[in-house]
Amino acid sequence: MPVLVMKFGGTSVATLDRIRRAAKRVSVEVAKGYDVIVIVSAMSGKTNELVGWVTEISPMYDAREYDAVVSSGENITAGLMALTLQEMEIPARSWQGWQVPVLTNSAHSSARIEEIPSVNIAAKFAEGMRVAVVSGFQGVSPEKRITTLGRGGSDTTAVAFAAALKAERCDIYTDVDGVYTTDPRVSPKARKLEKIAYEEMLELASLGAKVLQTRSVELAMRFNVPLRVLSSFEEPNDQAGTLVCAEEDIMESNVVAGVAFSRDEAKMTLVSVADRPGIAATIFTGLSEAGVNVDMIVQNIAEEGRTDMTWSCPTDQVTRAEKAMSDAKDSGVINYHELIADKDVAKVSVVGIGMRSHTGVAAKMFRVLSAEGINIRVITTSEIKISVLIDRKYVELAVQALHDSFDLDKTS
Ligand code: ASP
Ligand code: MG
Repeated sequence: MPVLVMKFGGTSVATLDRIRRAAKRVSVEVAKGYDVIVIVSAMSGKTNELVGWVTEISPMYDAREYDAVVSSGENITAGLMALTLQEMEIPARSWQGWQVPVLTNSAHSSARIEEIPSVNIAAKFAEGMRVAVVSGFQGVSPEKRITTLGRGGSDTTAVAFAAALKAERCDIYTDVDGVYTTDPRVSPKARKLEKIAYEEMLELASLGAKVLQTRSVELAMRFNVPLRVLSSFEEPNDQAGTLVCAEEDIMESNVVAGVAFSRDEAKMTLVSVADRPGIAATIFTGLSEAGVNVDMIVQNIAEEGRTDMTWSCPTDQVTRAEKAMSDAKDSGVINYHELIADKDVAKVSVVGIGMRSHTGVAAKMFRVLSAEGINIRVITTSEIKISVLIDRKYVELAVQALHDSFDLDKTS
């Protein structure tokens, strides 16, 4: 029988009533003849509560115990969902990650799935089980310890199961009814996309759109899993949601597919470092070893053998970056005048595969921002995106102006 993966996020399983509502959707697909793998998140707020408990008891926690605690929210919803389905006369069974098993590496709290042997679940389907309800977000390490996949990781669980069991599709049920051209709370003109290409979704997700975990999109693209994002609060229909799919399956699309933003960016500048071979390697190795996720990088033109190096990183990593640089200065590895941190910036990006074949998108973006009097601090580009760093207070203005100028409220 064909296999379908249905993933329910935290808000879709937040109460027993919502679990019943989700189970009803599962029953519709079972009636159509699918064997269904249901991936559940923890009830909304649960994982945050568990993380809070861990950090209260042990701020520098052992990541293995963090995973033991934080993975548990999903087990509750998996069992409750299986019971709900059984009450509806549907043969269902819950599975924790280690039981499947979902094999991961040992990177506790941000483990990667390495393999999901499908034999055990396939055997149960063959015996008549119609729904396997799997705890999302968790797996088991080679040392046989429970691991978790990083916050939002049950999206990745869902896509990995779809790939491993060759599912026809992976439906991600959430509290929004699809992927939008931008956040509707920022631009009221934001439009729901019928389809979006994997690559665009990947950029949007990593640039701040929160609807899917970035790694789940990466995985969907690699294994060509059609991914549908839809709301569990709307009546089901075949047009519902947004399909994330291969670029070839999209007939018409705008040059720019969406505008993404992220508010928690900081801009850091190392003033007056020696401009010599290896200096960038030294700085960014130090930052990376300190766990700083550097995004944009700009090196100024050198004057008299000294230069400034600027980068952006998440606001909450500024302290770590400062410590890494002052340690490097104390030990004589890097010599600089000062380190300036500006925590009041935000990143705004336009994304679209159409940029590969259309010129002038960058110029237009800069004109639009300049017409609003918004100063650009740093620019980076890739084949299908342009990102700028601007003062945080202008985020809404910038997003709305770009959304309007690129006509994102209309289909092409
Ligand atoms: N419950 C986990 C979290 O809140 C995983 C997930 O929901 O995707 O991050
Ligand atoms: Mg999520």
